[in-house]
Amino acid sequence: MLRILKNIWPYALTLILLLAGCGKGIQKKERSPLEQWMVQNDKLKVLSTTAMIDDLVAKIGGENIDHLSLIIGEIDPHSYELVKGDDEKFIRADILFYNGLGLEHGASLRYRIDHHPNAVALGDVVCRLKPEEILYRGGQIDPHIWMDIALWSEIVDPIVEVLSKALPETAEVFAANGRALKNELLLIHKQITQQIKSVPAEKRFLVTSHDAFNYFTRAYLSKDNEEDWRERFKAPEGLAPEGQISPEDIRSVIDHLVQYQVTRVFPESNVSRDALRKIVEACRSRGLLVDIAEKPLHGDAMGPPGSITDSYIQMMQHNANVLEEAWR
Ligand SMILES: [Zn+2]
Repeated sequence: MLRILKNIWPYALTLILLLAGCGKGIQKKERSPLEQWMVQNDKLKVLSTTAMIDDLVAKIGGENIDHLSLIIGEIDPHSYELVKGDDEKFIRADILFYNGLGLEHGASLRYRIDHHPNAVALGDVVCRLKPEEILYRGGQIDPHIWMDIALWSEIVDPIVEVLSKALPETAEVFAANGRALKNELLLIHKQITQQIKSVPAEKRFLVTSHDAFNYFTRAYLSKDNEEDWRERFKAPEGLAPEGQISPEDIRSVIDHLVQYQVTRVFPESNVSRDALRKIVEACRSRGLLVDIAEKPLHGDAMGPPGSITDSYIQMMQHNANVLEEAWR
C-alpha cells in the first residue's frame, strides 16, 4: 500500500497543483493597471506620462509597486491635455516620472507636472549624464531619446534609485530587476543594430511624418562613425507633429526623396498622414513615383494594450522589422 502511495504521489501532487492553479484562474481575474491603481492600498503608486517609461518602471518595480501610464495607445504626447479622470491619477501618484526635454508641453499636463511634489524628468537626468548624446534641431532639444534603446537604458538606474529611496527594504530587488532589464535592452539594441545594418547603407534613408527618428537614425541607420548621418532622415513636420507645414517643408522633403532615390515614405501610428499624402501628390505631379508604406512606424507611442506593439521592446522591434522588410 505504502509503495503504491509512493508511486502515485508525484502524479497526485501535479493534479493538486493543476487544480489549485485552475481554481485561482477562475476566481481571480487579473486587474488592469488602471483598476489596480484605483485600489486603496499601501503600495507605492508610480505614475509615468508615457507608456515607454511605464513599461520600464513596471519591470523594475514588479509586484512591489502599482504603476500606470497616463498616456495609453496611439496618442501624441507632445500636446497631450488632461482628460476626465486624469486628475485622480495624479492625486494618487506618490511618484511621477516624465520624459522632460520639452516633450510634455500640453498646458494642463505641464501644470500637473510642475505641481507634483515628486516629479522626476528622466530625460533631464540622461541629459546630465550623457550631454554629448543629446540631439538638437534649430536650437531646440530633441526629446525623442527612447528611439535609441542604448540611450533609453540610461533611465533604468535613475528609476531604480528613486524607487529604492521610496522603498529601501526592496532596494536589492529593484537593483536586480534594473540590472536584468538593462542587459535585456542592450542585447536588443545590439540585435536591432545588426538587423538594420544588414540592409545596404545606400538604402537606409528614412522619411516619416515628424522629427521623431533622429536618435533612431544615428543609432541604427548610420554607417559607423558617419559624420553626416542626419542626411539619412527627413520629415516634413518638426520636433512636435502639431506644427504647421510650409511649402518649403514639403519641397525640402521632395528634394531629399529625389537626391537619395527614396520611393517609399513611412507614416507614424499617432500622426495624421496628411503631410505625407501632400508629398506623394506633389511628387506625382513631378513624375516621381513615391508611395506611403502600409504598416506605420511607432515614433511617439507604443500600441494599445493587447496589440503586437504594446511593450517598449516590441515597439522598437516592430520599427526595425517594418524597415528591414521594406528596404530588402
Ligand atoms: Zn514626437
